Amino acid sequence: MKPLIVANWKMNPQTLAEAKKLFNLVKRGIKNIKNAEVVICPPFVYLPVLLGCDKSSLAIDIGGQNCFWEEKGAYTGGISSLMLKNLGADYVIIGHSERRKFLNETDEQINKKIKKALSVKLKPILCVGETKTDRAQGKKIQILRSQIKEALKKIPRKEIKNITIAYEPIWAIGTGENCSINETMSSVLFIRKVISRLYSRPLAKNLRILYGGSVTKENASDYIKEARTDGLLVGGASLKAKEFVKIIKSV
Ligand code: PEP
Repeated sequence: MKPLIVANWKMNPQTLAEAKKLFNLVKRGIKNIKNAEVVICPPFVYLPVLLGCDKSSLAIDIGGQNCFWEEKGAYTGGISSLMLKNLGADYVIIGHSERRKFLNETDEQINKKIKKALSVKLKPILCVGETKTDRAQGKKIQILRSQIKEALKKIPRKEIKNITIAYEPIWAIGTGENCSINETMSSVLFIRKVISRLYSRPLAKNLRILYGGSVTKENASDYIKEARTDGLLVGGASLKAKEFVKIIKSV
């Protein structure tokens, strides 16, 4: 399986012109690259324009940064996974720590969003990770286990292959304080163990697990080659076309 490199643009950039420029620079930079799968998750408002490119010539998949758990209806401000799918998106990030923190997103909501995304054949990227306090108090394992168990509640085993889990220690996001290779490796192993207990060993073995948290062009390949993750979720560094292209090339 090729490494999966996901760009999370978050609430950036501020104009459509900048979004198009960034997208085109990345597209050009990775034109002949076959070593990785690349997904860009821009803000919703830029999706139709970026997806308007000829998909057959696009080496990039597109994803949403969130979705609502219903398909349609009276949910002001909501964007459904069906809308994303109908636009041509392939992936959706679900349960990012910024949404858990600033919007009080719960494990129950995350579970409903994953189920809905799967029902329309959109591939969820489930984010899990502990805070600095959880880690200092020795609760990391407990937090990861509970986030995964709750997020995947009643999700049938046949769907597990369509889900990606991103291990994102919250203290490492946007801080420059990235997680060590050893710690990342042990967290990823633990996540596989949880999936193995909930489902089966083969499903756990084949599950895609990404690392996210202050990834740069300098440390990206270590997470794939040494920490044995299956890819990366990149925030800040994905907003700099040259750096993001270097990250992709380095893996
Ligand atoms: C993220 O937001 O998912 C993330 C990993 O951000 P950063 O790369 O900026 O730490």
